[in-house]
Amino acid sequence: MSKKRVIVIGGGAAGMMAAGRAAESGADVLLLEKTGSRGAKLLLAGEGRCNLTNTRELADFIEAYGPNGRFLYRAFDLFFREELLEFLGRFGVGTVNEIDGRIFPASNSSADVLKAFEAYMLENRVRLETGKEVDAIIVSEGRVTGVSAGGAEYPAESVVIATGGASYPATGSTGAGYRLAGAAGHRIVRIRPALVPLAVCDVEAVKNMQGVSLSGVRLTAFACNALEIPCGGVLRDAGRGIPGKSPKPPVVESRIGDVIFTHFGLSGPGVLKISLAVADALENGPVSIAIDLRPRLTWEEMRVEIQKRFDRFSKRNYRNILLELLPPKLVDPFQRMTGVPAEKVGSQINAEERERLVKLIKCLSFVVKGPFSLASAMVTAGGVALPEIDPATMQSKLVKGLYFAGEVMDIDGETGGFNLQAAFSTGRLAGESAAAED
Ligand SMILES: Cc1cc2nc3c(=O)[nH]c(=O)nc-3n(C[C@H](O)[C@H](O)[C@H](O)COP(=O)(O)OP(=O)(O)OC[C@H]3O[C@@H](n4cnc5c(N)ncnc54)[C@H](O)[C@@H]3O)c2cc1C
Repeated sequence: MSKKRVIVIGGGAAGMMAAGRAAESGADVLLLEKTGSRGAKLLLAGEGRCNLTNTRELADFIEAYGPNGRFLYRAFDLFFREELLEFLGRFGVGTVNEIDGRIFPASNSSADVLKAFEAYMLENRVRLETGKEVDAIIVSEGRVTGVSAGGAEYPAESVVIATGGASYPATGSTGAGYRLAGAAGHRIVRIRPALVPLAVCDVEAVKNMQGVSLSGVRLTAFACNALEIPCGGVLRDAGRGIPGKSPKPPVVESRIGDVIFTHFGLSGPGVLKISLAVADALENGPVSIAIDLRPRLTWEEMRVEIQKRFDRFSKRNYRNILLELLPPKLVDPFQRMTGVPAEKVGSQINAEERERLVKLIKCLSFVVKGPFSLASAMVTAGGVALPEIDPATMQSKLVKGLYFAGEVMDIDGETGGFNLQAAFSTGRLAGESAAAED
């Protein structure tokens, strides 16, 4: 009996896994990749170190994808972290666990992960054609019969769309999969940037702080203008990936993280994490971000702390007192924003002036202009609508023989290895299902 023909479109993390697994499961597999090489985005991942997955327990892991995470249970049943690490180990890639449960290759090299996938595909005789951009899925009587690329037709009984999202287009992920799936009748959930820096309206303010990096601060997005932020209360973690903690309006999301001030706004891991919630909230009105520089202190404790400093340094001038409290690059902007003269000595600074400083430290706020472009986002949110895909097989519910894997679907996760794990797991399931008899 002749082998089932499977075509995988896209040679990223999901496509390489799908192709290797389909071939390992007995199919004759052709991988079509539009660029000259495979795994361009995989090589960039984790700044070249490739944050492969995360040590979080399954239920928490699923939370990292927001409400759509439930779709992944079946794929994770088949192939989760342990299976991924075992798979990579088979190709000589050991791993290390780092802060926040992040798992990286022990060699710190994405290239070693790519080599493992190349060896897997070679071992299972996947045929690979690079420089082949698929421009249509051929469907006849509700079932896939092949694809067309560059004027040529490639027949197949199963096709896996693993074309990635629409961010970092230089890696080949230009959103082609949305057009292919859309033409086959699939609904595409509006695509938007996730894990992306945020531009603020008051560019001058952040420019003055450019280059400053703060770790362990509380970042809270509020659905209102900066002047309307309800300052003074206790804020707790709330938002996507934080089990059972839905944010209470006007809070959109709140979490502890790191922030970097840039020439246009805010970046850093904490900002990337809240960026999707901010982008979505901006659809309905203004959004502001408040940074609490001392999240471990309540407002009252902060007041006491500041009072103590001014008492202790009663003869020092305000600027020098600020130098004791803040990173050097924040001193001048804070002095200007509080409006307290730099030369005024501690003993002359009154309660109202101290309160202005407390407010800036506990609630340094910026009105958000918008997320940075989709092209610069680490991940694309939105994509092929999940209700039209069978989570047990990754097969389209509309077109027989059509499968999906990776970021092209309406799945996006936090930073921390969640996006690659989703790509590997859905790729594995799609490849195995595409090769199976139907
Ligand atoms: C800078 C950066 C760093 C990241 N770091 C991490 C990290 O450390 N950990 C993590 O979990 N996630 C990380 N991510 C996200 C993660 O890399 C992606 O979610 C993941 O690689 C998606 O895999 P994919 O196979 O679905 O798509 P992609 O890797 O984007 O692959 C899609 C492939 O399809 C090809 N293609 C597209 N259209 C066609 C067509 N019509 N015909 C043929 N081929 C086509 C493309 O050329 C591309 O090779 C990072 C992303 C970026 C941008």
